[in-house]
Amino acid sequence: MRTRRVWGWGYEGDGPDPAALSFAEASLGALLGPLPPRRKPPAPDAIVLAPPRCPPPRGLEGGLSDAPAARALHALGRSYRDLARATRGRFDNPPDYVFQPTSEDDVVRALEAADAARLAVIPFGGGTSVSGGVEPTALGDLRGTLTIDLRRLSRLVEVDATSGAARIEAGASGPEIEAALKAHGLSLRFFPQSFELSTLGGWIATRAGGHFATGPTHIDDLVESVRLVTPRGTLATRRLPASGAGPQPERLVLGSEGTLGIVTEAWVRVFRRPARRSAVTVAFADFAKGTLALRGILQAGLLPTNARLIDGPEAIMSGAGAGDTSLLLLAQESADLPTAGTLEACADIARQHGGQLVGEIRTTDAGSGGRDATGETYRSAFFRAPYLRDELVLRGVFVETYETAVTWDRLAALDDAVRRAVNELDLGPHLLACRITHAYRDGCAPYYTVICRAPDADGGLALWADLKAAITSAIVDAGGTSTHHHAVGRDVVPFYERERPPLFESALRAAKRAVDPNGILNPGVLFPRGP
Ligand SMILES: Cc1cc2nc3c(=O)[nH]c(=O)nc-3n(C[C@H](O)[C@H](O)[C@H](O)COP(=O)(O)OP(=O)(O)OC[C@H]3O[C@@H](n4cnc5c(N)ncnc54)[C@H](O)[C@@H]3O)c2cc1C
Repeated sequence: MRTRRVWGWGYEGDGPDPAALSFAEASLGALLGPLPPRRKPPAPDAIVLAPPRCPPPRGLEGGLSDAPAARALHALGRSYRDLARATRGRFDNPPDYVFQPTSEDDVVRALEAADAARLAVIPFGGGTSVSGGVEPTALGDLRGTLTIDLRRLSRLVEVDATSGAARIEAGASGPEIEAALKAHGLSLRFFPQSFELSTLGGWIATRAGGHFATGPTHIDDLVESVRLVTPRGTLATRRLPASGAGPQPERLVLGSEGTLGIVTEAWVRVFRRPARRSAVTVAFADFAKGTLALRGILQAGLLPTNARLIDGPEAIMSGAGAGDTSLLLLAQESADLPTAGTLEACADIARQHGGQLVGEIRTTDAGSGGRDATGETYRSAFFRAPYLRDELVLRGVFVETYETAVTWDRLAALDDAVRRAVNELDLGPHLLACRITHAYRDGCAPYYTVICRAPDADGGLALWADLKAAITSAIVDAGGTSTHHHAVGRDVVPFYERERPPLFESALRAAKRAVDPNGILNPGVLFPRGP
């Protein structure tokens, strides 16, 4: 395994594209004023932590660690709040021990040991949570914490080429999954921005969303069956293409965020690798017109694989445009079917709403090509953005994202409410960018980025809390969801509680008591006051 960077994104030795960093420094310097010099992040061997609060759980020797660097790596996720602390060497709540299972039996043993020792268990995939999902707080009367890091459970176990499904262990990361499936000419076609580090188990636990804008883009759509190890046994669901037999068991696991058990593996639906592709970008003078075009496309029954609407500030940030127009990035890809027709139909609708094509529709029937330059620039900036964000945080920049989904009828009011909430906080010079990441027949998923100077006093931690509260409250009050794909974790619980029906909460608590009667699994996540 390569060495993960303790204080930020990726692996030791990796970093952002130097040209993208210079561009970001220059443009943000112009907007926010000169940036302070880069702070030095902590060296892994210089990290000092308080010793574990409890003796090691019994029977886990071998895969167990209490080394400071291992505990620090598992102490935080990757929200701005996490980065602001980690880059200053502040690991407030490290787990007492980290265990790396290499089999499902190891996971069973670890849960038995933790239950017996009254330790909180924090499941850990890639640690890319942006909602406090892996930070071990809210211990209650438990005696300490055991983080279970699943990254050594990463095999492609079996492929069913007839049905188009694959059985994959939960700790496999995006690149590991794609490399293993590629050998079979297959792909999961699931590409969240955190693809490089996040894992199948983490995606299932958080109901993650991939970067395709329509169609089967949520991990929910791709899971055929799942195995969940709980303190009271293993829940294994049946492989089925569909079923009307009562409530769907996978649905209890999807989004359970490690509170009901540990996902050890899943059968997922896979696709032949696409060979045909068309792409085009459409410019709109006005973002609202772009949303009308997007709605028109979806409501006409078209499902382009990509249909991402980005506003002017977002286009500048990603280098995809000059910021004077909003851009709708359209693409369609398929292993077998022609793709140009879908995009021609989308382009017609976009034109009816005042859109202007930037260049022609580009199409290929084999391998690479069929890519549109604006779309490609955006795509590459998108996947490298986490590295860039780390460097900006080290240079005193506050940068955080906020996402939701809302029905079309409430979109304009929600957007107004978010802009008002940001304006009411005195951020000084700042940038507020918006993109629509996912589109549905009945609504869409707006995604906001806020960039401003991080106050020196606390590195922006109070500002982070104020913005989170102001924006998420505005979203929920305006009829949106507290999260479309970033999960609830510990940070979003107060807002999630405002949308969760009370009777559903009681039913969920009863389910938790059945599988985790001692409340050891991920305390503080989904349920604020324990089981
Ligand atoms: C830069 C950046 C970009 C992102 N982009 C996206 C995006 O495009 N789409 C998206 O959906 N999310 C995105 N996220 C959020 C995050 O990547 C997702 O929530 C992802 O699904 C987490 O996967 P992970 O393996 O890193 O899980 P972790 O962060 O390790 O864990 C997330 C939660 O799931 C639990 N968990 C993890 N593994 C298991 C398991 N095997 N069994 C049970 N519980 C488990 C953890 O306890 C925790 O509560 C992004 C985050 C960052 C920092």
